[in-house]
Amino acid sequence: MIPKALTIAGSDSGGGAGIQADLKTFQELNVFGMSAITALTAQNTRGVQGVFPASNECVRQQLDSIAEDLKPQAIKTGMLYRSSIIQTVAEKIKTYGWSNVVVDPVMIAKGGASLLQKEAIETLKTNLIPLSTVITPNIPEAEVLTGMKIKSNADRKQAAEMLLVLGCRSVVIKGGHHEDNLEAIDLFFDGNDFVWLRGQRIQTRNTHGTGCTFSAAITAELAKGENVLNAIRTAKSFIQAAIEHELNIGSGHGPTNHWA
Ligand code: PLP
Repeated sequence: MIPKALTIAGSDSGGGAGIQADLKTFQELNVFGMSAITALTAQNTRGVQGVFPASNECVRQQLDSIAEDLKPQAIKTGMLYRSSIIQTVAEKIKTYGWSNVVVDPVMIAKGGASLLQKEAIETLKTNLIPLSTVITPNIPEAEVLTGMKIKSNADRKQAAEMLLVLGCRSVVIKGGHHEDNLEAIDLFFDGNDFVWLRGQRIQTRNTHGTGCTFSAAITAELAKGENVLNAIRTAKSFIQAAIEHELNIGSGHGPTNHWA
């Protein structure tokens, strides 16, 4: 039977990030994709022009409809926007006993638009992260979640340890935002081992939706029954190829290429 994965995230009208990136990634990795939409954004490669969050009831019903008929083997969360949406999602994960939970702690789009209200950060930490199999912050997100500045590899290890204390089973802190590095090196930590995952840094402005695509690829691999570290390794190759074969669509930050 084909594995099924669910994304709980925001819609990007431009098609490069959010729900659209997630479903394309699931499809490319041979997993059946389902979605619960938390917010609509009016967006293109130039930026986010509007954010229209869904009501809690709307999110709740989408999750109930999926759960009553379809069983996802893995789920991911992306843009959740509001504290009450995070609470709704956390409740449903518990009610339906969903496992293989990937939390991408999406906060700010590249252009600076807020995808998570400031007051929702605490709810993310207390309600959702403790239910997660893996969280996938970039360095700025890891800094917000831990309250520490991350400059060195030693800092990143310390941040990973602090994130595990929040209750996630593992963490991958992505290195793409580490400016002075020729490589994009991610750090995985599961409470036992630190694993540095090396990758070539590709100079391009077309990186819209990279975080969404990476976490969706991890989710797809978990849905197939892979372990977390293998899922992350596959997701890293997938996103690396997708960035390398950039599409050059639009006049701003273009999307990555899922056919790569
Ligand atoms: N829009 C939505 C709906 C998203 O979920 C995300 C990222 O998670 C973004 C935009 C961010 O896109 P970018 O990669 O350009 O920062």
